[in-house]
Amino acid sequence: MNQLIIGITGGIGSGKTAVSNRFQALGITIADADFAARAVVQPGSKLLSDIAAKFGQNILTDAGELNRPKLRGIIFADNDARRFLERATHGPIMDQLRSELTAATSPYAMLVLSAGTGQNPLINRMLVVDAPIELQQARVLERDGSDLETINHIIAAQPARRERLALADDIIENIGSEQALDDKVAALHQFYLDLNHHD
Ligand code: ATP
Repeated sequence: MNQLIIGITGGIGSGKTAVSNRFQALGITIADADFAARAVVQPGSKLLSDIAAKFGQNILTDAGELNRPKLRGIIFADNDARRFLERATHGPIMDQLRSELTAATSPYAMLVLSAGTGQNPLINRMLVVDAPIELQQARVLERDGSDLETINHIIAAQPARRERLALADDIIENIGSEQALDDKVAALHQFYLDLNHHD
């Protein structure tokens, strides 16, 4: 892929979706690794039947979909199962993302990654959306109505803020108003357009 592909990462509640929605509104194609991970195990997919063959038919819901909480429970307790799942899903997810990104007709495209710091071979630049932990907590409390303890567990399980920031080519500090975020995205969009132009 001879295209500018920018990864978007950030901790829970940092504002990855708020940011990617704004780039999308500017006409930029957005692929999302979490969506792709769901798309590749749709009922009828080879991957879902491979997973059912490995873990048993009761890993499926009555509607024939993947029972994600159940699978999470299994791989949490069983490293071999987790490795099997990672190996089985990696290729199909990458193929899915690659085809979405190659089909992009926007001047550049973006790939929303979860909170991880793992390098993704599809991207050639990384944008980190950053906010202080207190703000992450407050936003997720309001958005999901979940409790602080659950949110803190998720934050603790995600890579540390400084590890993410260390990999950033660009950073959006999402600490202000919605309007301030609009302005930051608009400025970065212009920067990416110029970057693409001069490459
Ligand atoms: P997750 O990792 O859980 O998917 P995320 O990084 O995608 O989270 P968002 O869902 O974009 O985060 O933002 C979390 C919440 O905070 C949302 O309800 C969003 O509308 C709100 N939010 C994000 N940025 C701002 C902002 N600058 N001003 C006000 N609210 C904001």
